[in-house]
Amino acid sequence: MLIVMKSDATEEEIRSVVERIESVGGTAHVSSGREVTLIGAIGDTDTEVRVSELELDGLPGVSKVVAILKPYKLASREQHREASVFEIGGAMIGGEHFCLMAGPCTVESREQLMATAQVVKDAGANMLRGGAYKPRTSPYAFQGLGVEGLKLLAEAKAQFGLPIVTELMDARDVEPVLEVADVIQLGARNMQNYGLLAEVGRAGRPVLLKRGLSATLEEFVLAAEYILKEGNEKVMLCERGIRTFETAYRFTLDLMAVPVLKQMTHLPIVVDPSHAAGRRDLVESLSLAAAAAGADGIIVETHPNPEEAICDGPQALRASEFADYAQKVEQVARIAGKAPFLRAGQTA
Ligand code: PEP
Ligand code: MN
Repeated sequence: MLIVMKSDATEEEIRSVVERIESVGGTAHVSSGREVTLIGAIGDTDTEVRVSELELDGLPGVSKVVAILKPYKLASREQHREASVFEIGGAMIGGEHFCLMAGPCTVESREQLMATAQVVKDAGANMLRGGAYKPRTSPYAFQGLGVEGLKLLAEAKAQFGLPIVTELMDARDVEPVLEVADVIQLGARNMQNYGLLAEVGRAGRPVLLKRGLSATLEEFVLAAEYILKEGNEKVMLCERGIRTFETAYRFTLDLMAVPVLKQMTHLPIVVDPSHAAGRRDLVESLSLAAAAAGADGIIVETHPNPEEAICDGPQALRASEFADYAQKVEQVARIAGKAPFLRAGQTA
């Protein structure tokens, strides 16, 4: 249920609605917008019935009570009309803010990570990505440096001052990952790992949730709902390509998802052109198209020497070309209404 308060509703009237919802076992999510305060009454189906029996529309300060028709509640635009804007370690995302996250697929060595971080920092990108735990299709492929990789990410963060995006694959690794991650990445293959989603929800750290290889947008937003339900509001959705009948390229980057997700949800929408394309020559045009479509950010792979990359070299932008690429993305994002986001020249 969604309780729409009158524009002149007092704090006390809002509190009284919240208390009544909680008295029947519901959770109240208050969203104070510029014009009006909305209170989402969230709970299972039985709780919803008990909330409806409270007849909240008769209370002072309440304008109306409406059912949230979408299966996702906290993520929906109905519950939260304004776009969510997050500050993450000094970087901004959402609303007019565009966030460029870049780095290697996987942390390979100190030299590789620091060289990439330097390039990412110098180009003015906003966050450093790099996996320490890698979801590989083959169990025989390199699985990431694990805790050693996390330590290197912590060093890079200390040296360059960039917030870190890194993947968590197993709830048992949440503690070491939380020591360094400013953003916990949940990979495409774990989008429907509901236990992991809830764990990350409870951890409270910002999350980059990637779309499953064959997930519909509704399934995607419902996966985000698992995180939000645990009280973690900082969730970014990442379109990274889906499986279709097309075989000419690796995945189909579903850019229509960007404007459609923005209608469905208030959460920031990020695009990953690297994993969709699987090849470098497509990454720039897909990035510019994503920015033009209104994405709130891009996460992209870059490597100082892609030919020697242990993982995903063919799709990594050459570090030597990264600054030019970042500038083009900024130009298109600005045309799409975003504020300048490159921070080149600024020290940590
Ligand atoms: C990645 O970002 O390195 C990755 C493995 O992405 P995805 O989960 O989208 O395949
Ligand atoms: Mn990769």
